[in-house]
Amino acid sequence: MSNLMDKAVEAIGKGGYGTALTGAGISAESGIPTYRDPGNLYDQYDQGKQGGMLGVLMTNPEKAPEILSTFFNKLQEAKPNTGHIGLVELEKMGLLKSVITQNVDGLHRLAGNSKVLELHGSIYRMLCTVCGIKKQMEQNDLFAIADEIPNKLGTITSITEIMTGILPPCSCGGPQRFDFVSFGESVQELNEAVLDVTSCSWMLIVGTSGVVHPAATLPTYAKNNDAFLIEINPKESDLTSQCDIFLKGSAGQVVPELVNALKKAGVGNK
Ligand SMILES: [Zn+2]
Repeated sequence: MSNLMDKAVEAIGKGGYGTALTGAGISAESGIPTYRDPGNLYDQYDQGKQGGMLGVLMTNPEKAPEILSTFFNKLQEAKPNTGHIGLVELEKMGLLKSVITQNVDGLHRLAGNSKVLELHGSIYRMLCTVCGIKKQMEQNDLFAIADEIPNKLGTITSITEIMTGILPPCSCGGPQRFDFVSFGESVQELNEAVLDVTSCSWMLIVGTSGVVHPAATLPTYAKNNDAFLIEINPKESDLTSQCDIFLKGSAGQVVPELVNALKKAGVGNK
């Protein structure tokens, strides 16, 4: 590991800026359930496999209160872990320009990264289905709404009721939904993400298995533009063969190790 860590430090020390691509793995370390791990939503609600959270809800609307309450309870307990905080450190050191994430849980923003591109949207944003305005929610506001879910959804029968029965209406009167990306919808902020990965000097790939497109193609864009690719994952993934080095371990363990190694080598601002 130490030899590989030296290589990572050397590559980052050459200058330019980096970007990080993160996935469910880093959130799982904060207690957010992933869809794909055994025993989680994909297993329990097989028909929803294609559509992520919204797909599960659409195929099992009568289970919506239970599914959503469980998710919000986990979210309420979740705090950014040392992996998230390490990425904030890298930004403060003047090394990391942006975090591109597939996670909808808002933990990167909560940790303090200033540029977070949320490809799959965010549970902390409301989207008006009529006028299209988006509004960011504070944690307290979101959890106040979440606490009401079991009451509001007692008689739920359709996805429309799920989407419009939870959030307050927009000032235009239109129903609002959570602004996360569901099956068949376009990912968000992709152009900005492509710009960052095609101009970065190095890229961290953290806690993502490289199976969900188009996020999984971003490392290829970076590689084609001569970026140095560093993967941090507990086990090898579909992306490993493209990466210059693979640092085995959890985000919460390896990202802080990388930060310390960079500081020791005098790379970046203090
Ligand atoms: Zn509106």
